[in-house]
Amino acid sequence: MPDEEEYFKDASFEEKMKMIYSKMSEKQKRESREQVIFMCKEHCGKCPTYKGTGETSLGFCMEGKSSIITEKKECLCKDCPIYKLMNLRWSHFCIRGSALELSQAEK
Ligand code: SF4
Ligand code: SF4
Repeated sequence: MPDEEEYFKDASFEEKMKMIYSKMSEKQKRESREQVIFMCKEHCGKCPTYKGTGETSLGFCMEGKSSIITEKKECLCKDCPIYKLMNLRWSHFCIRGSALELSQAEK
């Protein structure tokens, strides 16, 4: 359905969350989490803010902030496919919190 695809592509993070996450089964949520972690390894895992901190967790845009990372350096999230796919508009999730938390803080 090209119209729906087109609409999804341009939708905001909040609209995308409503469109997909609310309809996902527990299994799909688990798979989606694994996919985010996989993509994240290539970006957070190579990021100056992350490297050398001893942090091993990933997926901060989804899981929320790190309990270890405190010093803000460069953020590579903008290059991550998840960032584009979900139309995220923040940075430094590892320090600032998940995309959902940042979205709610704007209200
Ligand atoms: S947007 Fe950032 S925190 Fe989220 S998966 Fe990509 S690199 Fe990790
Ligand atoms: S959220 Fe951004 S700043 Fe934090 S580790 Fe990932 S890429 Fe680096």
